Amino acid sequence: MARRETLQSGPGSRALVVDIVRSSGPISRVELVEATGLTQPAISNIVRGLITDGVIRETGATVATGAKPRVLLAINSSVAYGVGLHVGMDAVTCAVTNTRGGIVGRQLAGLEGGTSREPPISQLAELCHRTIDMLGLPAGSIAGVTVAGRGPADVQHGLLPSLQASQPGSPASLRTELEQRLSLPVLVAANADAAAVGEFWVRQVSRERTFGCLYLGTELSAGLVLDGALFRGASSNAGQIGHVPMSPDGPPCPCGNRGCVNLYVTPAAVVNQAWGDSELVARMGLRPDETTARTFDILARAAILGDREARALLDVSAVGLADSALTLVNLWDIDTLVLAGPGFAVAGSLYVQEIRRRLAASAFARSIHAVRVDLSNNPRDSVAIGGAALVLQGSVAPGHGPLVAQSVHSR
Ligand SMILES: [Zn+2]
Repeated sequence: MARRETLQSGPGSRALVVDIVRSSGPISRVELVEATGLTQPAISNIVRGLITDGVIRETGATVATGAKPRVLLAINSSVAYGVGLHVGMDAVTCAVTNTRGGIVGRQLAGLEGGTSREPPISQLAELCHRTIDMLGLPAGSIAGVTVAGRGPADVQHGLLPSLQASQPGSPASLRTELEQRLSLPVLVAANADAAAVGEFWVRQVSRERTFGCLYLGTELSAGLVLDGALFRGASSNAGQIGHVPMSPDGPPCPCGNRGCVNLYVTPAAVVNQAWGDSELVARMGLRPDETTARTFDILARAAILGDREARALLDVSAVGLADSALTLVNLWDIDTLVLAGPGFAVAGSLYVQEIRRRLAASAFARSIHAVRVDLSNNPRDSVAIGGAALVLQGSVAPGHGPLVAQSVHSR
């Protein structure tokens, strides 16, 4: 069912046009008139401005309809580049993408000591510099950088408390410090928000979808894209599905609650359970000095290959996660759900199957519509790619995302 926002409440006609060209692929001006409800002169003006700014281009192809062939328009993939830095379970990933979300550069740096040690800001800046420098991109073509990590994110002040809490004397603002070191605009985001925008952007999801993304890594969390824009809530910390209590009498969660979903479904929870089974530990060759992320991957691979005990541990995670997916879908009447994050990299198919099964059997609106559930094409890099998409969306389609300084359209 088409939802067409009024221009008063929508993201602005320019952002609307960019978003429709992004999601539809090559499209003519006439089709844009039909899709937006804007007048033909308005579309002509907006398209002319976007072509002048290099945001969209004429593809050279035409469709012959009626008397006059229609020229097709597409996003110009090299008008700007975005950079995403993901502080993940045991590594920092830096990805540079073009305007269509294609990766043009990627570097990975390990976190010494695994998850207990957060990277110093100097390491983030250095990784970012190294990744950008090797690409030789035109000066001024980088729209900005998003640093994404475990929430909560203080987007207004440019802080990721989870990243900075362990650094005595760390600067008041991650954003300010990185902007000074990189001379680029910097945004901060929680993992699921970045992943959601990235999957929405890269998969060319239509703005008419009610789109959800489940992130599994250090935590389980969710991002929502409604009418083409990330749903941010009061402070950009919506979608904390991992902090919904699964067992009210369960162990305390760092969030202050008890028995949260995160304590049962995350890779860390699965690995903790595995350590209680000495036979499994010996059979898998698990080592205490290995990172949680790698240990989880070993267990996930064994589960896929049919190891019964490993499969039982993953099944507990998948069943709990399917509960969370059902809650999310029922709360928001989601019709498109994507699974992203390193937790889905090895055994993502197992999670997809469990969630599909649960939604088909129990989603509240199942008699009205199906829910499409897909695995990210690149679960490990989805947050870094999403960080880049977030900064690009704010730059080429302002009105959907946060305002990015030095945006492409104003240069
Ligand atoms: Zn919690």
